[in-house]
Amino acid sequence: MNKHILSAAAAAVLLSFSAASAVQAAQIYPVDQARFMTNARFDFKVELDTVVDRKNIQVQINGQDYKKVLKGDEIYVAEEIDAKGSAIILRDVEIKKPGKYTVTVKSPEGELRANWDIYTTPKKAVAKNVIILLADGLSVGHRTAARILSKGVTNGMYNAPLAMDDMPHMALLGTSSVDTIAADSANTASAYMTGHKSSVNALGVYADRTKASQDDPRQETIAEILRRKTGKAIGVVSDAEIEDATPASVVSHTRRRADKADIVGMFWDVRPDVILGGGSAYFLPQGVPGSKRKDQTNYIEMFKNDGYQFVTDRTELNDAVKGKAPQKLLGLFHTGNMDGWIDRHQWKGNTVKKFPNQPDFTDSFNAAVKVLEQNKNGFFLMLEAGLVDKFSHPLDWTRSVGDTIAFDKVVELAQKYVDKHPDTLLIVTGDHTHSISVAGTVDDNKPGKDMREKVGVYAEAGYPNYEDKDKDGFPDNFAPSKRLAVFFGAHPDYYETYRPYPDKTFNPAVKNEKGEYVADDTYKNVEGGHFVEGNLPRNESQGVHTVDDLVVTARGPRSEEIKGFMNSTEIFRVMAEAMALGH
Ligand SMILES: [Zn+2]
Repeated sequence: MNKHILSAAAAAVLLSFSAASAVQAAQIYPVDQARFMTNARFDFKVELDTVVDRKNIQVQINGQDYKKVLKGDEIYVAEEIDAKGSAIILRDVEIKKPGKYTVTVKSPEGELRANWDIYTTPKKAVAKNVIILLADGLSVGHRTAARILSKGVTNGMYNAPLAMDDMPHMALLGTSSVDTIAADSANTASAYMTGHKSSVNALGVYADRTKASQDDPRQETIAEILRRKTGKAIGVVSDAEIEDATPASVVSHTRRRADKADIVGMFWDVRPDVILGGGSAYFLPQGVPGSKRKDQTNYIEMFKNDGYQFVTDRTELNDAVKGKAPQKLLGLFHTGNMDGWIDRHQWKGNTVKKFPNQPDFTDSFNAAVKVLEQNKNGFFLMLEAGLVDKFSHPLDWTRSVGDTIAFDKVVELAQKYVDKHPDTLLIVTGDHTHSISVAGTVDDNKPGKDMREKVGVYAEAGYPNYEDKDKDGFPDNFAPSKRLAVFFGAHPDYYETYRPYPDKTFNPAVKNEKGEYVADDTYKNVEGGHFVEGNLPRNESQGVHTVDDLVVTARGPRSEEIKGFMNSTEIFRVMAEAMALGH
C-alpha cells in the first residue's frame, strides 16, 4: 500500500489511472467500476493520503451531499492507525434506486472519483431454489481429463458428455480481483457471494489500508441477504475445511482468510441450516485433541444446543436423513481437509486410515437437499469441491481429476433434482483456473527406461487404457499402463516422474537453507524421471492459480443470462435476479 504523501497534482495523476493500475493511493469504497445491487448493504469508506480536517472534505454523490443518498451515521477518523491519513466511514448503508452513481470527494489533496452502476432485480422471483456447485480451481484441462477418464472417447467422439457439460447455458468467466489479475479463492468466491470484487485473501470486504483484518468495508453476503429478506434455508457444503475461503465466503467478513477461528463465529452468526465439511479443529475448544482454537469456545456444543443434529462420518450422515430429516444439520468429517475420492476408494493414501469413513460428495449433497427442501420458502445451497484445487497446487493431477469426476457425480444428482424441481436455478462453475493441460499419453510399455520417451503426442498418443468395468464413472484403476500425460504450465522446481503417487499427494518442492523452494529429493531417484526447472519465483512452493478464464454452465430459471464473457460478480447478479433479492 502506498504510504507516500502526495501533492494534489500527483494524487490527481495517480487517481486518473485505470483500475488496472497497481498503485493504490487515496481510495473510495466501494471501488470505481463497482456494479452492485439495490438494497444490498455495504460499508462506504473514503481514505485520504494525508490528515485533512473534516470541514475541508466534501463528499458528494451525483452532485448532492452523500448523506442524502447513503443514510447512516458518519464516522470521521482524523488520522487512521497504520495510515497517517484521514478517513470517512459509513457502515451498513444501501441504495434503493438503480442507476449510475458518481461519488466525488474534494479535499486539499485534489479530487477523487468512483463510478458505481447499481442494478435492481425483477420484483417476482423465478426460482424457488438456487444451487451453486463450485469446483475450486476447475479448469478446462480438468474437465477434459475427467471426461476422457469417466466417459471415454471412441474414434474421436466422446462417448458421453460430463454432467457439467450437459447444460443449456455456458459462459467464460473472468476472475481478476481489485488488487491483481491473479486471484485467490477468497475474493473469487466473495465475488459470487456479494456481487463485489475484492482483493486477495479478502472475504466479504474491500481490503482497506488498516492492518486490522475485520474492520474493512463490508459487503453483505447472499446468505445474510437471504436471512434478512426471505425465509429460505441455507446450506454450505465442502470437502475442504469448512472455514476455508470458498465455504467461508457465504458468511464471512474478513480481510484475512486465515482468520479461521473467527470464521467459525461468522458461521454461528448466520447459522446456515446445513453445514457439512472438514475443519472440526476450529470448532473444538483449546485443549481438546486436534483443536486449533486459542479459546475455550466449544462451537460443536453451541450448534448442538441450538438444535443442530451433529454427525461425524458417512454412516451417521446417511442415518440422519434416512427417515424424516432434521431441521438443522452440522457434519464435520475431518479435523482438516477431507481426503479425495481416489484415496478414499482405491489407494487408501493420505489420512484415510485415520478417517476411514468420510462421506462422498453425493452423500453430502443428498443429505443437504433432504434437510433444506423441507423449507416451504425454498433454499440456497453452495457446494464446493475444494480438493480439485488442493491437489492441483502440488501438481498431483491424478487426484485432482479423480475429484473432478466426483464433483461431476454431484452435478448429475443436481441435474436430476432440477428435472423434478424445475423452479431450481443450477449453476456449475470453478472459481479460478490452474495451468493444467492434457498433452497426450504416457505408455509404460514403450521400450527403454527414460519416461520422457514414453510420452506420446499427436498420432503417438493414441488412447489411454483406463477401464471402468463396474460402470461407476470412475476408472477401476487410476494408474493403468497407458495413462494421460498431463502437465502444469506454471510451477516451481520439481522432479517429473510421469506416474501417480498412491501413498500420498505429490510434493514438488521443499525449502532449502536459503529459504528458496527446490525440487523435493524424495522423487529424485524414481526410475526414468528427471528434474524440471521451475518458472515461478523461488519463494513459491507450489503451482499457482492462473488468470485464464473459466467455464461456467447453468440451467433452470434465469440461466439464460449465463452467456458469452462475464465478470465473476455477474454470477451473484443472476442468482439474485432469480430470487428477486433487490427489493
Ligand atoms: Zn488454490
